Parts: sequence; structure tokens; C-alpha cells
Amino acid sequence: MTPPPATMTVPLSRPSIGQAEIDAVMQALQSSQLSIGPWNERFEAAFAEAAGCRYAVSVNSGTSGLHLAVRALGIGPGDEVITSPFSFIASANCMLFEGAKPVFVDVEAESFSMDPAKIEAAITPRTKAILPVHVFGQMADMTAIMDIARRHGLAVIEDACEAPLATHRGQLSGSMGDLAVFAFYPNKQMTTGEGGMITTNNEYLYRLCKSMRNQGRGDSLQWLSHDRLGYNYRISELTAALGVVQTQRLPEFIEKRRRLVGLYEAALGGTPGLQLPQVRKENEHTWFVYAVRVSAALRDALLEALNQHGVQSKAYFYPCIHLQTFYREQFGFREGDFPVSEQLSHEIVILPFFSDMSDEQLYYVADTLKRLLRELQDQTTA
Ligand SMILES: *Cc1c(COP(=O)(O)O)cnc(C)c1O
Repeated sequence: MTPPPATMTVPLSRPSIGQAEIDAVMQALQSSQLSIGPWNERFEAAFAEAAGCRYAVSVNSGTSGLHLAVRALGIGPGDEVITSPFSFIASANCMLFEGAKPVFVDVEAESFSMDPAKIEAAITPRTKAILPVHVFGQMADMTAIMDIARRHGLAVIEDACEAPLATHRGQLSGSMGDLAVFAFYPNKQMTTGEGGMITTNNEYLYRLCKSMRNQGRGDSLQWLSHDRLGYNYRISELTAALGVVQTQRLPEFIEKRRRLVGLYEAALGGTPGLQLPQVRKENEHTWFVYAVRVSAALRDALLEALNQHGVQSKAYFYPCIHLQTFYREQFGFREGDFPVSEQLSHEIVILPFFSDMSDEQLYYVADTLKRLLRELQDQTTA
């Protein structure tokens, strides 16, 4: 059977780029200084201020930032880092880059982030750090996580890639751990095309990350003097110029996203068989994606039907990190190891959601979702 023609196609995500971004990138392009220049300094200063941190180091991706954060803490072969498997793969791969072992604990079904009640059972004499992921724009329970980390003498790296400007008990994401990492891929709340940022309040870690980002050069920045093993994780001035404007606009993006969430809640609330995202009272959410949950039995059919009707939607995070083939092979993980994460990965549907989404697009998504879900429910009960 061929599907009926879609009356509208709504993309899953789209960046918001305006004239100010174009002007800034043009200025950087015409300045003839295309790397290591004033735009980068402005970008780092603006982002550090927005994130409520003393220091920020730009990097060419969130993944590069996570790698440097792990290295800066001296984590290496034989060490363990506690994290959660309901995430994008980079948050665990960063341990593998350094020969360290990611030790997973399951997540909480409400917030999708690391369950603090499960952390202490995972701590061993080899544990060096905890790496909580602020999933989809809502912070993990950082009060509990920081308390456990302090009691056990562990470092904390926040994967804040999906949660810029989110807060937990009034404290900004990226300002609580020893180091935090943000990412600016085009589907994130703000984008530089490719890019990322490390934030910290620790001057030593700041200097180390800055040096490792730039081939291990020392503070003197002497051209061929290298103090340590480093990488080229720098961004260009074009990227930094884009980042300056997007950082300025970040509060506007988040405000727009919160308004859209309100519209989704009004349109979708009370729909049988559909669970909307929950925000804990101690958290302010900054909405990377809009994630709803349906019965696992219907989920894949619903995704297919939504996409056929022009509503671009996706499963997230399926499969969970521990069930990716090379994790299974290297560590022997199996289905059932982290049941909450696995259940979420079978139930979640990411709906179209981006700062410049129109009300018309949102209502088309909501109406189509309700209709298709009802049709699938009728089919399974018939
Ligand atoms: C986006 C993201 C990253 C980093 O992604 P890059 O594509 O390397 O910038 C890391 N962790 C999480 C949870 C992410 O969502």
C-alpha cells in the first residue's frame, strides 16, 4: 500500500542562522586571520560568562572536548569512569580513547539521566571519575552526584553537550563538575557547524586543556616548543565568529524552545498511550529535543508512519551504548544489563523540534501524531 501524500514535511531539526551570523563570519573571513585570533577569544569569554564558569576552551567537537577532559584528569589504562549507557556514544568512547573503562550505571526513567542511587555499588578502587550526562536538556541529579564524588574523592566531568544554560537548584550546567563539555553540532540548541567547548573553574585544568587543544604548546605559544602530547582540536576564526553570535542568541533560542514545549504540552497532554517529558521541580530544562514515550510494541510502526506522513522523527538512543556491537564484543554486555535505559530506547520518539519551528508545523506534528497513534492502537486491539 502506498502512503497518502504528506501535506507537509516538518524536519526533525534545523539551525537558526540569521544576518548577524552571516555578517560575523564575513568579517572573520575578511580579517585574513583565519585561526587563533580575536574571535576565538571573544567566543571563549562569552561562553564562559554564559555558563557561569571562570574558564572556557573552544574545541572542534564535543567529542574532542570529552577526550581532553578525560586526559586532563590523568585518566588512563586500568582506570574506571562511571557513566550511563542512555546517551550518545561519545560520552563513553572518550574513556576508550585513553584505555580507561566506562562502568555503566542505569538511568532514572523520569529524567533519563544517571540514577545516583546506583552509583556507589559501581565504585571500585580503580574508579577515578563520574561522568554524568545531562540528557536531552535536563541536568542529572548533580546534588547527589557531587556529594557521592566528594565522599569518594572522585572527579566529575559533566557531559553538558545537550544542556547549555540548564540549571539544577539554580546552578548552571557546566559549573558544578571539575570540567564540563558542550557541543555545537547543527542539531544542538546553538551551533557552530562543528564545535564544542570545555568549561572549568580550575586554572590548572584550564591550562592543560588549552595546551592539549593546540599541539601541547606551552603558555608562551612558541611555535615549535611542545610541552606535552597534544592534538589539533582548534576551531577556525570563522567557526568562532559564528559561535560568538550564537552564544549571544542562546537565551533567545531557549525561550523559543520553552514556548514550543508549552504548545506541545497543550496539544498532546492527556493523549492515551502517550507520555510527555517530565521536568523535575529542582531543574530548569533547556530542551535539546522533544522526547515522548509510547508503548514499545507500537514505537517502530509509529516512527515509520510519522516519517511517511512528513513528520521527521527518530528513536533515541537506540541501541544504548552498552549494546553497540563493539561494546558487546569488548565488554560482554548483554540485553537486560541496564533495563531502564533499554526500555527507554524502545519507547522514545523524538519529534520535530527547533527554535524557529512555526506553530503551524507544531500543530501539524501534534495532530498527525495523535491520529497515527490512535490508528495503531485500534489495529492492535482489533
Ligand atoms: C552531541 C553530543 C556529544 C558531542 O557531539 P559532537 O558531535 O562530537 O560535537 C557528546 N555527548 C552527547 C550526550 C551529545 O549529545
